[in-house]
Amino acid sequence: NLQILLKRRPVGAPVPEDFEIVETPVPEPGEGQVLVRARFLSLDPYMRGRMADVKSYAKPVALGAVMEGQTAGEVVASRHPGFAPGDVVLGGYGWQRFSVVGPERLFKVPAADPPLSASLGVLGMPGLTAWCGLEDIGQPKAGETVVVSAASGAVGQVVGQLAKIRGCKVVGIAGGRAKCDFVVKELGFDACLDHHGDLEAQLDAAAPEGIDVYWENVGGKVQAAVFPRLRDFGRMVMCGMIAQYNEAPGADAAGAPPGPNLGPVVRKRLRIQGFIVSDHGWARYGQFRAELEGHIRAGRLRWREDVVDGLPNAPAAFIGLLKGGNFGKLVVRIA
Ligand code: NDP
Repeated sequence: NLQILLKRRPVGAPVPEDFEIVETPVPEPGEGQVLVRARFLSLDPYMRGRMADVKSYAKPVALGAVMEGQTAGEVVASRHPGFAPGDVVLGGYGWQRFSVVGPERLFKVPAADPPLSASLGVLGMPGLTAWCGLEDIGQPKAGETVVVSAASGAVGQVVGQLAKIRGCKVVGIAGGRAKCDFVVKELGFDACLDHHGDLEAQLDAAAPEGIDVYWENVGGKVQAAVFPRLRDFGRMVMCGMIAQYNEAPGADAAGAPPGPNLGPVVRKRLRIQGFIVSDHGWARYGQFRAELEGHIRAGRLRWREDVVDGLPNAPAAFIGLLKGGNFGKLVVRIA
């Protein structure tokens, strides 16, 4: 079994030496378990958190253990009555070719239509994140202005398109011309602003009316530019702050970029709420998937993937994800 282990806890940005690639025997499923062969591995920003030994909503990966991650692939052996060899599934575990998993959070999915990798992106955890955060927290209404950071990424693409379907004006924020062009021309956002430029001025030009919903994927300077432009009764969906993930422990307080002045939260009656998709999201996976598949069939929902070939290339691809090297949902195709 080809596996990628966490060898060392990174200080700052991860480097290739923090990972170790090993070959081990293929595991056997125990009673009630299933052996899954991965075809695709999802690489996601939350994995940076699992590499650090700090108190969080989930336990860190132990040193020497397989890196955490979700895969999609097929069942090769089963000791669970609900699954048989050949079933195509979402829900294998880890940066590895074979994994033994229980039936919890193992979903049978189509093999090809839509493509299997979509079950890790638009129809997987990132899409579910977008859908839950909008349903539960953002609640955008027709005519409102929604701003989405990391707009060309896995979560951001879906957030913006779902907000468009609800009749909102949607402004994305992304890094660079190519990503911004894609967000407007391919995904149909009303505008997309480059965070390498003067974001304050671009926001004033694109949304002079102010912002009703801000979908926060990035934090740092982007947050500081957006926050003062929220309107009365605005909602801030706190999904992630990737710009701050490589900071040293404790930097949230000390070394982080200056945060916004949250004073206006009261005067403007703002709602700022964080959430973790795994808390309640998977229980609603069926409803979410049916709704989004409907949008895909109707031609209302598109997506872009960034596919990297070969499990040994996962560490480099993940390191790139934390600095904007990916263009679209990042997945690894496993031979
Ligand atoms: P993406 O596919 O959007 O990839 C990450 C993107 O973040 C990069 O492409 C880059 O886009 C942007 N980025 C990276 N570093 C920086 C930086 N220093 N400053 C500004 N932008 C940066 O990732 P996901 O869609 O998977 O995740 C987006 C966010 O959602 C993350 O914060 C993640 O942690 C969070 N998340 C939260 C969940 C929850 O349950 N709360 C679940 C899933 C994701 P660009 O080049 O455009 O800047």
